[in-house]
Amino acid sequence: MTNPFETQTPATDNSGVTVSIRNHPGYDAGLLVFKAGDLDGIIRLLEDEDKLTRTIDLAAKADKLYHEKAGPPAPAKGAPSGPSNTGRPAGATQHPTGKKMYCEHNGEQVERVYKTGVAKSGKNAGKAWGAFDCPRNDPDHPRIWDN
Ligand SMILES: [Zn+2]
Repeated sequence: MTNPFETQTPATDNSGVTVSIRNHPGYDAGLLVFKAGDLDGIIRLLEDEDKLTRTIDLAAKADKLYHEKAGPPAPAKGAPSGPSNTGRPAGATQHPTGKKMYCEHNGEQVERVYKTGVAKSGKNAGKAWGAFDCPRNDPDHPRIWDN
């Protein structure tokens, strides 16, 4: 094994410092990512309030425009789309506004699982859906559609 102190790490796209800012905790939150070679670079990026404000304003404007042009938000990145047959949640497990629903099992309130996906067929094909499912797959606790 080589001495790590003798090895110069080559610069890649993953080097340096990244600051990510979300405008809310939901899966469809807007995300601003600032990258710089080091902390000083990040500070230079973030300390210029005028430029930062303009950047955020333009990003928000672009985000709004994109939503108007491209329709409802897609499911969380990396999540499988559509209902799965494995019984696991198909998409995000948290409602974008933090809404929760419960069902009762032996007198106990159990939080339902929030699922999202994109309809693959039917009149709603291509549209995003959200629903609350019974976490124990109880046939007496049918899916509650959220939209
Ligand atoms: Zn249930």
